[in-house]
Amino acid sequence: METIDQILIHWFNQNKRDLPWRSQRNWYTTFLSEFLLQQTQVNQALPYFEKFFQRFPTIHHLAKANEDEILTLWSGLGYYNRARNLLKTAKQIVEKFNGQFPENISTALQLPGIGPYTASAILSLAFKQAHPVVDGNVLRVIARLFAIEHDIRQQTTKKVIQNKVRALIPPQKADLFNESLMEFGALICKPKAPHCLQCPLQKHCQSFLNNKVELIPYKSPAARKKKIFQLVFVVRYKNRVLIAQRKTKGLLAKMWEFPIYEDNELTLAKMNVQQILKKYFSDSWQMYSRALPPLKHNYSHITLQYQPLLVHSKKPFRPKLSQYLQIEWLPLEAIEQKALHKAHQKILKQEEFKKWWADLNN
Ligand code: SF4
Repeated sequence: METIDQILIHWFNQNKRDLPWRSQRNWYTTFLSEFLLQQTQVNQALPYFEKFFQRFPTIHHLAKANEDEILTLWSGLGYYNRARNLLKTAKQIVEKFNGQFPENISTALQLPGIGPYTASAILSLAFKQAHPVVDGNVLRVIARLFAIEHDIRQQTTKKVIQNKVRALIPPQKADLFNESLMEFGALICKPKAPHCLQCPLQKHCQSFLNNKVELIPYKSPAARKKKIFQLVFVVRYKNRVLIAQRKTKGLLAKMWEFPIYEDNELTLAKMNVQQILKKYFSDSWQMYSRALPPLKHNYSHITLQYQPLLVHSKKPFRPKLSQYLQIEWLPLEAIEQKALHKAHQKILKQEEFKKWWADLNN
C-alpha cells in the first residue's frame, strides 16, 4: 500500500490550484504570500499578492517602502500589524542579512511577525527544510487521519499533531509534502462535508474507518470577545468627506477612518445625536441626515458594533478631535488612496450610502 506522503504528493501534483506564489516559487514570493495568508483565505489574499508583487518585485523594493504606502496597499485585508511587520522584517532582511532570508530557524524567529508557523512555512516551502507546517487545515487533516479526539485549541494537541507531521515528512520533499497536506485540507478534507468518498487517503484514515469523521476535530468554544460600540460620523461638505488618521499605537494604529464616538451600547442608545454632533464637532453641521443600517466587524479579540450616521456640513470646519493624528477633508475618490480600515470600507459599500452620495451630487 502506498504511504500517506506518497498519496498526498501524487494527489497534489494532479490537483493543486494554480497560485501565483506557486508558479513563481522562491523565498521572496513565499515570504510575501505567507504574510498575506496569515488569518486570511487564499481568494482574499490573491489580489493583494498581485498588487504587492507588482509594486515591490524584490525584497529591496519592499524594504524601501514607507509605512503609509504599505498600509494603503494592505487596506481592506485587516490585521494591520501584519503589514507593519512585513515592512519591518523586509528592512531587517536587507540591513542585517544582505537581502537574504535567514536559513536558520532560530534567527528567522527573531524577525518581526515571523512566528513558528511562518518560519516553518518559509524554510520548508522555499528551502526544503524538514519543519512541520501546521495551519488550521493541517490540524484538521491529521486529527482525522489519526482519530485524535482531543481539543485542537489546546497547545498539547497541537504539539501531538506537529510531531505526527514531522514523522510523515519524506526526505528531500518537505516542501511538496507540507504544501500537499495544506492543499488537501483546503480542497478535500474540508471542515464541513469532507469529500471522504473520493478521498485517496480513506484506507489510512482512522476517523473514516471508525465512523468518527463528524466528531473530529473537536474544537472547544472560543472565549467570548469584548464588544465595542461606536457611532461613526460620515460628515460631508459638498463633494468632500471628513476622514481622520488614528494615533500610532493601539488598535488600527495609523489607519484612516470616519470620525468615531465610542461608548457603551446603553449610553449610545440614550444619547441625542444632535447634541453629540454639536459638542463633538462644531456648530457648523447643517443637518443630521440619517442613520445607515448598523454594522458589525470582528477582530480577533473584539467585536465592533457601529452605527454609521450621515451628516451634512455647511462648511469644511476643523473639528477638535484630539484622539487623531490628523484630519482631512477629501473627495470620495481620494479616500481610496488612504488606508481606510476594513470596518469603515463596509460603510462605502452600503447601498444606502451610495444612494445618499448620488442624491446629493445631483
Ligand atoms: Fe478526511 Fe474523509 Fe479523507 Fe479521512 S477519509 S482524510 S476524513 S476526507
